[in-house]
Amino acid sequence: MKSSLLPYFLFFFTLHCFAQKEGFDLEDKRVLVVYGGWEGHQPKYFGEKIAKWLKDQKAKVLVSDSTSVYSDPKIMGDLDLIIQHITMSELTQDQSKGLLQAIASGVGLAGCHGGLGDSFRNNTEYQYMVGGQFVKHPGGQVTYTVNFKNNEDPIVKGLNDFSLHSEQYYMHIDPAIEVLATTRFSGTNDYWIEGSEIPVVWKKMYGKGKVFYSSIGHSKDTFEIPEFWSVLTRGLNWAAN
Ligand SMILES: [Zn+2]
Repeated sequence: MKSSLLPYFLFFFTLHCFAQKEGFDLEDKRVLVVYGGWEGHQPKYFGEKIAKWLKDQKAKVLVSDSTSVYSDPKIMGDLDLIIQHITMSELTQDQSKGLLQAIASGVGLAGCHGGLGDSFRNNTEYQYMVGGQFVKHPGGQVTYTVNFKNNEDPIVKGLNDFSLHSEQYYMHIDPAIEVLATTRFSGTNDYWIEGSEIPVVWKKMYGKGKVFYSSIGHSKDTFEIPEFWSVLTRGLNWAAN
């Protein structure tokens, strides 16, 4: 090898080793990425970013900017994973039925922030599937800490607690979720919630489908936090397998 190529070789070799170490198993997985809803969460940016990463893992990716895909039985019947990033918005009855049936029958579901935890506010069966619903981020942008739990779980194994400046989601929570990280509220904003510990990362089942969620992900910069990116990619990998 020419010595001038050595740095490139080392770079890609390191990337390769990192991918091996993370143990992603997404090759040929059929993944549907659906984005839309409130523009403040930059749904297209997230959809394209995660689709690119999935393609790098050799997954078969279909990207849609419309929930109409949920009512297409041909597409929904041939998936391993759905990644959704749609804040608020609404589903038609057919779309809701298509999504719920797919997950219940064994398709995985993954997402973050308002894209999965604050979608379709009038759809309680959807909330029952996800395992939690955003209700408020007291104080808007605040600095808060994420504490990992259950360090033996592969999704959070080896990750250190970290702090970030973003929206700290206060959520109504299903006790059937398996909590992988939490955050504690200081009470600086809304004194009566001081000390409340709210899940930030969880996994759960809905029928035969695996559901993964993290409440981080308000803005582009949050996806650059290494701990969060690890949790997100490991979580969707878990949900797809
Ligand atoms: Zn937000």
